[in-house]
Amino acid sequence: MPEIRLSAPDITQLEIDAVLEVLHTPQLSLGPKIPEFENAFKRHLGVEHAVAVSSGTAGLHCCLLGLGIGPGDEVITTPFSFIASSNVILMVGAKPVFVDIDSKTLNINADKIEAAITPKTKAILAVEAFGNPGDFDKIVQIAARHEIPLVEDSCEALGSSHGGRKAGTFGRCGVFGFYPNKQMTTGEGGMVVTNDKHLADMCRSYRNQGRDPQAGAAGNGAGWLGHVRLGYNYRMSDINAALGIAQMSRLEEILEKRQRVAHEYVQRLMDHPHIVLPTIHEKTVMSWFVFVIRLSEVFNADDRQAILTYLRNHGIGCSNYFPPIHLQPFYKETLGTKEGDYPVTEYVAARTIALPFHANLTPMEQDRVMHHLNEAVGLRLSEK
Ligand SMILES: *Cc1c(COP(=O)(O)O)cnc(C)c1O
Repeated sequence: MPEIRLSAPDITQLEIDAVLEVLHTPQLSLGPKIPEFENAFKRHLGVEHAVAVSSGTAGLHCCLLGLGIGPGDEVITTPFSFIASSNVILMVGAKPVFVDIDSKTLNINADKIEAAITPKTKAILAVEAFGNPGDFDKIVQIAARHEIPLVEDSCEALGSSHGGRKAGTFGRCGVFGFYPNKQMTTGEGGMVVTNDKHLADMCRSYRNQGRDPQAGAAGNGAGWLGHVRLGYNYRMSDINAALGIAQMSRLEEILEKRQRVAHEYVQRLMDHPHIVLPTIHEKTVMSWFVFVIRLSEVFNADDRQAILTYLRNHGIGCSNYFPPIHLQPFYKETLGTKEGDYPVTEYVAARTIALPFHANLTPMEQDRVMHHLNEAVGLRLSEK
């Protein structure tokens, strides 16, 4: 039996042709595909500025730099995320201040944010965990009340919305990522979106070696060799952007396919006594980045590991999204964080299982996943 992959991009002839078309031109970077991709994104989200970058991490880094966050500053964030959302805080020399998560949305617990705010707090960097923007309306209000910018890590949430507001548009800026396991891909890539012109200009400068943003739209005007700040090469190439434009044009179709796959899983798992499904607020529309289930409380981290191993041995791709960031060796060393610091995060993180999930997963493959998952869970229960 072939392996069922944990994730897979949805690439059609349209994407292949779009990439080949760029390869037949001399402009593989700094060409017309970048503004075209940025404009498609602006239209989709209804924002004023979009800045394409080389990764989601690069986009978050540019945002923190653009907001002037650096050494001595604190940024409030979640310990339950892909590590990039915290790493960028350390990259600018600031201190991540973790706040535990809500057990339903799995996002930073809005009710606990205010207790963590100090005079040094310069931003809230909130992540839509597994693409769920539930509660972001509350986080926006807290940020506004304290006049602190909200940096929205929407890398997992393209296409999701809450209360009719699209993920990526809650914060002062929103950041998307296009690694191949995301809702849409550019191979590697990211996008910053914002209505703040100054911040957009700063992101354009940081992505392009600290060049003056006035040097021209494509950056090739008079000031091309004028560098006004320490910048990076965080540019996206036209090859990646062409792939992104093609994916954008199919986004609704891709999201519908993902919705169908998620729905199939929900139908099959709804009545399972030992599996907890994602909790989705009635005002939330999910675009489904991954499909992550949680084992009931009778299971522990060892049980979860045994179940993952069993699934992998039977050709089912799966993963433990996400180990708590505050328990990563580098964070324990750097920040002195330890087990017990964020109990909700630790409880959830010990029991999650990401199941195979992508647009083209078939109901037959999902049956196979269910078959082996039920076997693995049953075996573990019988040993208790
Ligand atoms: C994917 C992801 C990113 C960005 O990842 P890149 O690989 O740098 O594009 C950032 N934050 C979260 C929460 C993510 O899932």
